[in-house]
Amino acid sequence: MNDLRRSAATNGRRLLQTIRAGLVDHRLRSLDIIQRAQYVNVYHASRIPHVAQVFPVPITLARRMLMAMGSFVCAGMLFKVQYSSLALPRERGGVGLFHVPDRVTALFVSSQLKVWRRCPTSLTGLLLREYAPVSMSAPVMLSDIPPPFYHFRYFFFEISYILHSLPLLRILQTKTVYDTLQMCQTPNPIEHKFPQIIWRRVWKAVHAGYLDTSVQSTWYITVNGKQVNQSRLHRIRLADTPLCVHCGVEDTDAHRFSCGPSADVWRLAQRILAFLTRQPPAQIIFLTLLFPDVIHYPTTKTNAVNWIRGHTVRYIFGPDEKSELGYWTYLNDRHCALVRNPRYKQFFSNFLRSAFHDPP
Ligand SMILES: [Zn+2]
Repeated sequence: MNDLRRSAATNGRRLLQTIRAGLVDHRLRSLDIIQRAQYVNVYHASRIPHVAQVFPVPITLARRMLMAMGSFVCAGMLFKVQYSSLALPRERGGVGLFHVPDRVTALFVSSQLKVWRRCPTSLTGLLLREYAPVSMSAPVMLSDIPPPFYHFRYFFFEISYILHSLPLLRILQTKTVYDTLQMCQTPNPIEHKFPQIIWRRVWKAVHAGYLDTSVQSTWYITVNGKQVNQSRLHRIRLADTPLCVHCGVEDTDAHRFSCGPSADVWRLAQRILAFLTRQPPAQIIFLTLLFPDVIHYPTTKTNAVNWIRGHTVRYIFGPDEKSELGYWTYLNDRHCALVRNPRYKQFFSNFLRSAFHDPP
């Protein structure tokens, strides 16, 4: 028993080390944050020790693994998205990074329950029956479980809370338990900061399947308010002034749409978006790019609008030298690549094509 417990901890620590080692791997530096989250999920988190089914990985170790994964995803970013937010499902403001503590809990609880139900005469089955509390309603009353079997205490404790939201039979599925635990996680703090925004639509726009991960990542960072600008640097005392070095007005995310040549880029973006949505260009405001929760009818039109919004954010906050021609060329190049997508028609009908055929 103690050997297994030790092995759960040892494997957990080994995993933690490999994640930390990955942080210094330079080949991975060029990945964007969405690709890094996918990488760390596939190559590290999926190897969460199988012994986690027998003994829960110590919760402090699980938290440290999530921290290591989060810092890997955010490597090189000055303003980081909270690691627990990164681990939310995409539709709730995360990037789908595995939430290690929830994952090990789900793995442990559902596999123990499986043993209990399917092999009631196995050692684990017999012990669980022996120590089961009289009532499973939370908080469970557990008193006489001897120290070697303390992990059962954890099992009964967790399962009593999960039973609030799931019927017993569904707890047999690790994924269902994981999703349920995830629903209890605190939402992304940006949602609290701007409660009037319809966040479900924002996250859907940012993670749309027709955007490549570099656009998704830039847009995600921007929406989360983590782009570098003078105001943010000044707030953490890394800049002497919050003012833009080019024009002397306060440098904020909003300012990026009016600073120098970016103003021409933004005027063209306004014309394209106005053409697509049949509105006067002046009514297109940059806030619909920072918080893309405005939708149109039909969905394919919303998709076309969001494709332009996402790429505009990518261009404006990207490293390229800004110019109206540069922006138009960038959009055309990206669009040419997109047309080859077999689902192009399904995503955009003819809305997006019209903006390029009939330049506004
Ligand atoms: Zn400026």
